[in-house]
Amino acid sequence: MKKTVLFSIMLLSFHVTVFAQTAFDSYKAKRDSAFQAFEKKRQTAYDSYNAKRDSAFAAYIENRWQTYLKVPGVSLPQSPKSLTKNTIVIPKINADENPDVAIIDALSNEGISQEQSVKIALEIIDSLGIDAIREGQVIGIASELTNPAKPVVVTYKVDSIETVALLQAKDNRYVYTESREKVKEIFTTYKGTVGDPISRNILPTLNAMANGTAKQGTPFSALVKKDGTGTDKIVAIDYNGVKVFSFSEGRSSALNVFYTSNGAAVIKSKYRFPLSGAYRKTSGFGIRIDPFTKQRKVHNGIDYAGMPSGSSVYTVADGEVTESAFDRLNGNYVVVKHRDGLTSYYLHLKENGIRKGTNVAAGQVIGKVGSTGRSNGPHLHLGIKKNNEWQNPEKILGTIGAPQLSGDRLQTFNTQVKEYSALFSL
Ligand SMILES: [Zn+2]
Repeated sequence: MKKTVLFSIMLLSFHVTVFAQTAFDSYKAKRDSAFQAFEKKRQTAYDSYNAKRDSAFAAYIENRWQTYLKVPGVSLPQSPKSLTKNTIVIPKINADENPDVAIIDALSNEGISQEQSVKIALEIIDSLGIDAIREGQVIGIASELTNPAKPVVVTYKVDSIETVALLQAKDNRYVYTESREKVKEIFTTYKGTVGDPISRNILPTLNAMANGTAKQGTPFSALVKKDGTGTDKIVAIDYNGVKVFSFSEGRSSALNVFYTSNGAAVIKSKYRFPLSGAYRKTSGFGIRIDPFTKQRKVHNGIDYAGMPSGSSVYTVADGEVTESAFDRLNGNYVVVKHRDGLTSYYLHLKENGIRKGTNVAAGQVIGKVGSTGRSNGPHLHLGIKKNNEWQNPEKILGTIGAPQLSGDRLQTFNTQVKEYSALFSL
């Protein structure tokens, strides 16, 4: 009797277990199939999105290429169909390196020979300056199918105002042309307070306007120029009822800073820029590809080019000339020891305009731009030492405008002020 009861209980428990197992299996099968259906749907949607995105991107690139290839003066050696086209994105540029290192690496990684990569980088730097090479920039490359390591056309977007530059292989070098596309400029008035992200770029100017410290939270207005590509440029500022305006002559100029409506520079510094007017920075402080050896090498200063040979070179601060000499590498050079412990070096001069032992004032002419010594064209190499160690001159000097705009520059500035004032709604 006891046995029967026990057996019945066991049987019942077996049935319950079997029932529970079946229910669970059925649930699991349903769940898996629902999951598979969902997964399939998601994958299809994802594939379709990807395909759409890829085809839109391909269409965009093709469209860009057609525009590039129509630039006047460009004649391709063969029909575009016999060319392979590729796009390369400039990767992150390391803080201690010049951008030429990144572009040369990126080009070489895409199968372009080291020799051609260096030539392409040097042509961009010669034509537009080293700051024209930026992280995220898209470079277009066209090569003949038979020779992919040597591109015949290289395109890249120079700046946010839609300037498309184009290098075409001619003989043994790349020749630079550019096409400027029309972009509608939009001006808006920004009203905010010091500390807003937009205020960061103009903080030195705000500080100068506030005679020391621009306080967090103080309201200001800015006239912002948008060029349709997401890049905003502040062209006028109203702070505590005082208005200042930006001046612009060309892509890079020591004078491209803010001035009062009378043309007086807002930021006054004891350091003066060593050049006057437009220039191109062709090499920055830090590791770069040496234009002579094509190897990575530390560059102990900044190279400025683009101004005519013979342009005046100014000392950056008051001091005493400790060297005015010539040697094989530096060419004609001048060294000035300043009272705050800095020493400045001006190399490759056409001629030295000052004798050793002379006391000089900031902004005094000490020589003329030239190409003496180890140099491949007229440029000024500016070096600055502090405690016997090379410093990045950009961090010390910044860009300093003339204390006062005058002549043709003042006239151009007055026209800009009129235009900006009319657009600035306060
Ligand atoms: Zn140099």
